[in-house]
Amino acid sequence: MTSTARPYLNRRLAEFGTTIFAEMSALAVATGSINLGQGFPDTDGPEEIREAAVRALRDGRGNQYPPGPGVPELRNAIAAHQERRYGLTYDPDTEVLVTAGATEAIAATLLALLEPGDEVVALEPYYDSYAASIAMAGGRRVPVTLRPDAGRFTLDLDELRAAVTDRTRLLLINTPHNPTGTVLTRAELAAIAELAVERDLLVVTDEVYEHLVFDDAEHIPLASFPGMRERTVTIGSAGKTFSFTGWKVGWVTAAPELVSAVRSAKQYLTFVSAGPFQYAVAEALALPDSYYDDFRRDMSARRDLLATGLAEAGFDVFRPAGTYFVTADIRPLGEKDGFAFCRALPERAGVVAIPNAVFYDDREAGAPFVRFAFCKKEEVLREAVERLRGM
Ligand SMILES: *Cc1c(COP(=O)(O)O)cnc(C)c1O
Repeated sequence: MTSTARPYLNRRLAEFGTTIFAEMSALAVATGSINLGQGFPDTDGPEEIREAAVRALRDGRGNQYPPGPGVPELRNAIAAHQERRYGLTYDPDTEVLVTAGATEAIAATLLALLEPGDEVVALEPYYDSYAASIAMAGGRRVPVTLRPDAGRFTLDLDELRAAVTDRTRLLLINTPHNPTGTVLTRAELAAIAELAVERDLLVVTDEVYEHLVFDDAEHIPLASFPGMRERTVTIGSAGKTFSFTGWKVGWVTAAPELVSAVRSAKQYLTFVSAGPFQYAVAEALALPDSYYDDFRRDMSARRDLLATGLAEAGFDVFRPAGTYFVTADIRPLGEKDGFAFCRALPERAGVVAIPNAVFYDDREAGAPFVRFAFCKKEEVLREAVERLRGM
């Protein structure tokens, strides 16, 4: 074959050619719909943090390449945050790495830790970048499906145990979990930790929604369980916590050998990014507890608004314990295919949602579920709910 006759996108990435988000966002614009598809806030984060970014830029801090591991101010702030919130101590010089969002942290971690053919056990449905990053690293994904049980998507610990083989290199965990809104409990996390220790596995844990837990749910970092600190790569991000998703400031905390491995991959992806924003995020992480409490209360009210509205519109609603998202079952509406439902919804009701099936290898398991984001203004959510009720 000549070089132009062959498909341009290589085999590793062929299945990831286009995302549903592009299609649905285009549909939202074309139909004038309210876009509850993609998870970004429609209001920026704290004014003082925006001003901190402006100040850094004006003062010439971060306008040139920052240090590879991130500016010391931010690495110190990340370490202080882990200590203050969770009692986890990390050396800012050797155990913290700043990345271009959690997305780069995930990619760099998998590129660093996987040999071709290594298996990665991940919770399904999964955040869309996991499958692509595993593929880029030449790994094989092994999904463990979270199943609806008493109003919550639940991890079957026996299934998790059974998914681990001699080829398993790592467990890829996400809590609070996108898209289901599940927050893994202390007992579930303890069982995951025991399994990791018993089978001597590395664990990568995506905790970008650590501050978005509601009611009496509690976020407990996997790294805090016995035997886990030395084998766990914890991934965080400023985007969701401070409502600046465009800044793309994320981080990794882990033991020095793991951070060093991830840094080796990261230095050839972006090397560094977001210089002035790193200084602003350092200030954001040091905001008083009242910021985090207010943020959580505010988002919890939005969750209630959307979850209640969806239930009134006839959906079966999985009331999320965390994240930006509500997953709803469309079967009570007489529907069974989330793809068809979401493609028709803009015309029918002027609202855009995402079919959860895109987050599954087992498309059947995800077929009846759709995801709505509630990180939007109250009046936007009210209008969306109004439209859905009139459907
Ligand atoms: C949004 C999101 C990310 C990406 O975070 P960035 O910092 O914007 O790269 C990673 N994981 C999950 C589960 C997310 O929802």
